[in-house]
Amino acid sequence: MLSTPANSAGSSAPTSPKTLGVFFCDFDGTITAEETFVGMVERVVPDLAAQILPDLFARRLSLRQGVRQLLEAMPAAAFTRILDYADQQPVRPGLAALMAWVEAQGMPFVVVSGGVQAMVEQVLAREGLRQRVAAIAAVQVQPKGDFMEVISPWEGGTELVEKAAVMAQYPQRPWIMAGDSVTDINMAIQADVVFARDRLQGYLDQIGKPYIPWETFFDIRDYLRQSPIRPMSHTNG
Ligand SMILES: [Mg+2]
Repeated sequence: MLSTPANSAGSSAPTSPKTLGVFFCDFDGTITAEETFVGMVERVVPDLAAQILPDLFARRLSLRQGVRQLLEAMPAAAFTRILDYADQQPVRPGLAALMAWVEAQGMPFVVVSGGVQAMVEQVLAREGLRQRVAAIAAVQVQPKGDFMEVISPWEGGTELVEKAAVMAQYPQRPWIMAGDSVTDINMAIQADVVFARDRLQGYLDQIGKPYIPWETFFDIRDYLRQSPIRPMSHTNG
């Protein structure tokens, strides 16, 4: 488990010094084949989702405000439904193969999600891959009274999970990332090697950040297998 910013300062380095780079992986729409967070809020709070999601995607509303609003509007009774929904979501092909390759390189595989931690845990455990993940940084929600309580140790900037702050916990370069949508923009900007699919490609086209298109984790593994990865100095923080 990733420590929180409050108690992690310099104490226990998350990875060993010989580690060569870090693989940061989004969850919803990246590990899961479909955009699971969107699918979940559309089912649980459909009216609010219809109102808020277009503003989130158009970046008129911050993730920090919008995602929190959506999660806090969910009835507490829906919590098990959320986990059941997550449990039905297939993962994108090649995840286990990529994780094995990343592990063989001595790189930690870190899941960085702007979505719900319990959903991430549920899917990874079902696939038998939870142990392969070095850390999960995501939003914690728990039933409290009639609604959900949102606890987000990584809240910062414009994000409910400030992905760049999570990355900064891992000084080893290169930073390799895979993502698909609006919650991955800041992570992609910071990363040295970016694998982008779906909406994320359009956002990165707008700002001129180079990326490698991908659809399955086999694509990523095969690309990385063919490209030598060397330690990189920390130059562009
Ligand atoms: Mg995503």
